[in-house]
Amino acid sequence: MTNRWTLPLRGAHNPSTLKQGTTPGSFANAPDVGGPLAFSSPDTPGMPAPSQKTAWDFLPEGWTRSKETGFAIAPKGFVPITQLEHARLGTITPQMLRVAEREPHLTAETVRDEIAAGRMIIPANTVHLAHKLDPMAIGRATRTKINANLGASPVSSGTDEEVEKMRWSVKWGADTVMDLSTGGDIDACRDAIVKNSTVPIGTVPIYSMIIGRKIEDLTLDVILESLRHQAAQGVDYFTIHAGVRRAHLKFVQQRLIGIVSRGGSLLAKWMLVHGKESPMYEHFEAICDVMREYDVSFSLGDGLRPGGLADATDAAQLAELETLGELTERAWRRGCQVMVEGPGHVPFDQIELNMKLQRTLCHGAPFYVLGPLVTDVFPGYDHITSCIGATAAAYHGASMLCYVTPKEHVGLPKKDDVKQGCIAYKIAAHAADVALGIPGARDWDDELTKARAALNWEKHFDLAFDGEYARALHDEDLDVDTDFCAMCGHDWCSVRISKEIVEFTSGKDAEYARDKAIKSAALTEEQQQMLQARGVLSPDEIHKLASKTKKVVDAEVGKGLCHSDFVEPDTAKRIQKDRLVQIRVKDDSAAAE
Ligand code: SF4
Repeated sequence: MTNRWTLPLRGAHNPSTLKQGTTPGSFANAPDVGGPLAFSSPDTPGMPAPSQKTAWDFLPEGWTRSKETGFAIAPKGFVPITQLEHARLGTITPQMLRVAEREPHLTAETVRDEIAAGRMIIPANTVHLAHKLDPMAIGRATRTKINANLGASPVSSGTDEEVEKMRWSVKWGADTVMDLSTGGDIDACRDAIVKNSTVPIGTVPIYSMIIGRKIEDLTLDVILESLRHQAAQGVDYFTIHAGVRRAHLKFVQQRLIGIVSRGGSLLAKWMLVHGKESPMYEHFEAICDVMREYDVSFSLGDGLRPGGLADATDAAQLAELETLGELTERAWRRGCQVMVEGPGHVPFDQIELNMKLQRTLCHGAPFYVLGPLVTDVFPGYDHITSCIGATAAAYHGASMLCYVTPKEHVGLPKKDDVKQGCIAYKIAAHAADVALGIPGARDWDDELTKARAALNWEKHFDLAFDGEYARALHDEDLDVDTDFCAMCGHDWCSVRISKEIVEFTSGKDAEYARDKAIKSAALTEEQQQMLQARGVLSPDEIHKLASKTKKVVDAEVGKGLCHSDFVEPDTAKRIQKDRLVQIRVKDDSAAAE
């Protein structure tokens, strides 16, 4: 029997490699890797069409394109440096090979071709490659990436703490890290972060340009010297706010919150004091030449991004975006790799337009967006307000998502804020990849679902992104792996009941079926802290969970203690009564007092 209401597939890839499950397809467009759509959402009526141009339309002066091979021919004696130049000449670099290895749905040839078209970048400074950098790529054909910001401020933190935060953010899934230090020993901090990082490092060089000087005193020499210094340190991408032009500033007057980008506000002040065009815009080619020398990628900054919903998609933001399109073309003509930065604070309904407009104006150059936050009234929870917008942004066109932590707008993120931000953004990126039908993106979900259906808690937590935390939450109520958990209890556990209905075969996956039930291992130090922070269990109860002996943890081999496949219902109920209800009764009575 067919269902009249099946998913209206548009030819997208099956996000699972196994063709298993009830929704094997994706609603996204059919994949167009090698074309302007790559992995993309269907356009809502009224959206601007993708640009028909690519980086191939903006070759440097003196370059031609071979009709036979399709690759570029550079002037005699030219020595390629950047990944874009190598790709244009048809070369597959070791970095492209590594990207294809890390993203098996792409071949090295596809990676090269996408880079040559300007739709993908590998931010890999040649100096950082000599340290510990493990090359990765950002683009519509790749999986969605996330960035974590860190950096010392004048009032908080230091180099060691920031290096530790960098390692911590990589542990929690950051694909790149931006060092936004504005205080402490900025230079030493940047150096230490680059040397210790396996992921690309980005900076906003204007911050260090104004250390010890007023913004008014910024000159071209200072700009180029600072860029050269940071490039030689191995920074992989620079945010350059060259899109903020003098003519755009009049649009800012209509806004509720003006300019919220530090770089944007500094350059606006420079232009107003001097009555001149921005030096970043005027001397953009000189900046390109410094960046090309080390293959530092551009992250063309959105200095006029909206700082509140009321300012989203306004004249200032869109005028800057148009300029960013022009700068993308100019950077490509100098052989530089480019991604473009985007907003900020955007109502949910305007996100698709923002993504698709960038695709048009910037000819498919990867879009790197901050959030966007979809509401302004939840400070303290902006990792959530923004990851909702980030999911929509990634589905509609963003290639990298800059995380937002719970400390956004209110303070400098600490370790746990970094973790919360990274996790929120891994959720956004992964959810979008599944929806876009990126091959294999859903395999992880399907594996976890099988473990969940088999009520194999051990496998469940092994597969979970943060299994430590999930396990701690489980054990807070019940430290035995049973055929139910504290949510519904034995009699009401639908997964357990489904396992017993033979026709469903639910939870019968041989690979995940448990042959015995075991007690949870003793809580780790980290798990103890997690449960302490939650404040549900008393210190004594946490201590009890943390000090189990090996014998208890290993339990008996053979017949399970309480796994419903192996235990009589009466025994399961006794366990529930002894271990689970007891906690609930205590909580209820406490609440009644
Ligand atoms: S008790 Fe409820 S929440 Fe827990 S495993 Fe069973 S169905 Fe899922």
